[in-house]
Amino acid sequence: KIEPAARMTDLPTQFFSTLVAKANKQIAMGKDIINLGQGNPDQPTPAHIVEALQQAAVNPLYHKYPPFSGYPFLKEAVAQRYKEDYGVELDPAHEVAILFGGKTGLVEISQCFLNPGDICLVPDPGYPDYWSGVALAGGIMHFMPLTAQHQYLPDLSAIDPEVADQAKLMFLNYPNNPTGATASLTFYDEAIAFARKHNIIITSDFAYGTIGYDGKRPVSFLQAKGAKDVGIEVYTLSKSYNMAGWRVGFALGNAQIIEQINLIQDHYYCSLFGGIQEAAALALTGPQQCVKELTATYERRRNALFQALHEIGWKADMPSGSFFCWLPVPEGYTSAQFADLLLEQAGVVVAPGNGFGSTGEGYVRLGLLTSEERLQEAIHRIGKLSLFKG
Ligand code: PLP
Repeated sequence: KIEPAARMTDLPTQFFSTLVAKANKQIAMGKDIINLGQGNPDQPTPAHIVEALQQAAVNPLYHKYPPFSGYPFLKEAVAQRYKEDYGVELDPAHEVAILFGGKTGLVEISQCFLNPGDICLVPDPGYPDYWSGVALAGGIMHFMPLTAQHQYLPDLSAIDPEVADQAKLMFLNYPNNPTGATASLTFYDEAIAFARKHNIIITSDFAYGTIGYDGKRPVSFLQAKGAKDVGIEVYTLSKSYNMAGWRVGFALGNAQIIEQINLIQDHYYCSLFGGIQEAAALALTGPQQCVKELTATYERRRNALFQALHEIGWKADMPSGSFFCWLPVPEGYTSAQFADLLLEQAGVVVAPGNGFGSTGEGYVRLGLLTSEERLQEAIHRIGKLSLFKG
């Protein structure tokens, strides 16, 4: 009999898969479905990065195992980007780990630092991979609610001091998935003081670090004083450079934490293909115009979407970062019921908010990952259901 270990049943379920299966059925029947539910960037990787990979792929050096923990030139490249973009100094040899996508670091940090029964503070709503890591480590999650009243920042003063004293890890994620909120340096200062007081390691998930609107560049956790004493930041090329399929991410910051991440990475992956590392280094050190253009594209889409929302009377706060919009569902529906209704009656897929945690109930998440025209069409279709009048 084949029986998975108990920890496997603790992994979060793919909450979104039933809805996607339903949508795929309708697509197979020839229906025009607009999928705003997923978080997969819709545009290709910039050509100069793809060309760098094509050239690097023929280098026989890269056909061998890469060095343990990756090539120094890629670590230097990400350190240079942080210096230029955020004024943050990182020692490439000790304060940078190359990840197989940001995701792996977010799961591994729990495996590196949680003993069974240890508490981890996780945002609710939040990115479900934080839960996966905690589950695999046998840790206990303590949810920090993110609400509109508190600008979708955790209220650290509301955390029971006994829980805080038992906590070993905390996840923060700004620009935020799913709410689109951003954080200030003042918030990070408070989080660092809290982490010091209770001896907690902070993991800042900066997956949407380059996507900030209205002329405001999101701040990095590592810009806050003392950040490196208490934690790391996870950075990734997936969203900023449209390289989600390439699986290039980084853990940056505290050297003792980075040492453990490198250790576990070596056991799982050795490191990324050298050709990918070379092209990733070029992405980070080459022309950055593509990053700016991408953010400008998302901002235009955001504005078009909110114009359409305004026209149909669907009131919501605009995101200040990331490519997600967090919209309240009309009274009388749960998130899941509302998402079902939109699929059935408008042919629009959205992600039900409860899939990101119980505080997400009452919301749906829409991604800005299709053209302005398609976004507007989706909202106009929803408008025809007359759910927002009066
Ligand atoms: N963190 C957040 C909040 C995300 O939304 C995602 C991807 O959707 C990731 C991390 C993972 O990114 P990567 O592609 O680098 O694994």
